[in-house]
Amino acid sequence: MAKNEAVKKGIFALGAKNDAYAQYFIGQSYLNNLVNDPDVNVGVGNVTFEPGCRNNWHIHHNGYQILLVTGGEGWYQEEGKPAQHLMPGDVVVTHDGIKHWHGATKDSWFSHLAITAGTPEWLEPVSDEHYNSLDK
Ligand code: MN
Repeated sequence: MAKNEAVKKGIFALGAKNDAYAQYFIGQSYLNNLVNDPDVNVGVGNVTFEPGCRNNWHIHHNGYQILLVTGGEGWYQEEGKPAQHLMPGDVVVTHDGIKHWHGATKDSWFSHLAITAGTPEWLEPVSDEHYNSLDK
């Protein structure tokens, strides 16, 4: 699919398979750490999800996260709210303490830059039943 090839060859390199966080994801993701500087209090990474891949429910404690969508189609959901369908150019701000997840749609690769401060707490996976109930 041409669209998916374009996501993999985005402005920021795909990076390696995201083995460090694989236990907190369903499906395959890729991570390219763009800023990982002990003198800077946010990390910036290019995160890419294969179709169907999503991270577990999680919370960013004592910090926040900003997602800048750069390619493909994906989802973002906060607990108790409807999932938001994401497209390139969309921006999401996750505040301190908010339980949420993000990932690709079933049939599209998905890339976002993640600007993250604080400490993540990883929770339960997004179930297939829930994920498959989303309408894309
Ligand atoms: Mn997050």
